[in-house]
Amino acid sequence: METGGSWCVCALGRGPDDLIATERFPTRDPEATIERILGFFGAPGRPRPSAVGVGAFGPLELDERSPQWGRVLATTPKPDWAGAAIGPALRDGLGVPVALETDVGAAAFGELRWGAGQGADTICYLTVGTGIGAGIVRGGRAVHGLLHPEAGHLRIPRDRARDPFPGACPFHGDCWEGLASGRALRERWGEEPETLSDAHAAWPLEAGYLAAGILAIVMIASPHRVIVGGGVGQRPGLLARIRPELARLLGGYPDRPELRGDLSGYLVAPTLGDRAGVLGGFALAEGLLVD
Ligand code: ZN
Repeated sequence: METGGSWCVCALGRGPDDLIATERFPTRDPEATIERILGFFGAPGRPRPSAVGVGAFGPLELDERSPQWGRVLATTPKPDWAGAAIGPALRDGLGVPVALETDVGAAAFGELRWGAGQGADTICYLTVGTGIGAGIVRGGRAVHGLLHPEAGHLRIPRDRARDPFPGACPFHGDCWEGLASGRALRERWGEEPETLSDAHAAWPLEAGYLAAGILAIVMIASPHRVIVGGGVGQRPGLLARIRPELARLLGGYPDRPELRGDLSGYLVAPTLGDRAGVLGGFALAEGLLVD
């Protein structure tokens, strides 16, 4: 299942072709939302899940050794969720193992198992929507450390003469998300990203910023494939603008077949669309049952 900033999606089943029930409802305060989720999985007449995988907005405490595991951290953009114990509440309320991931991490698992990441060992799922986030899965495990990757807050080169916008990140101003998220587009240009025409100056700038951040991910995480999702990321024509920018920034190095040519097999669109996160939940739950 998925808890998004605006909507929750619950699903019971084993995969995209084996769905027993789904339900979508607005994300409200933690108590009401968790109660609704428990109600979905405990509904009479339905089989009970053996395990639950959750992709949740964050930031989240994902260290299983920490007594704070499964909590939303204080710096969440949804203040009433700060400290909410989503992981423990579902584990204890349902009495089954729960795998918790970031929303982008879960989407990465979904695309890896059933979508555009199939066959790759290391993938990055990048979402460019209201914010920017990246989930990296390597060898079947999400890359976590001190926290989970927070790629949206990378610093990228910028030309203030070309783009004087101060940036939209409340913590860093002009970090990657501060310059290239949907929120940044809206604040810089004074309109919703989806209403900006294809000929608008926003798009060459956006493609350049996205390529710069993706370059950093390619150089550090060395993914076999990068999947670009999210409301802005999936805008028709945007990937085709990012690929030549990324090729230019790579400059022929590292020299791998995947990074030559037009990058159309390397920098790809998701194939599961809005279902990546919730299907990622199935993949995470599957992982709990085989361990
Ligand atoms: Zn930032």
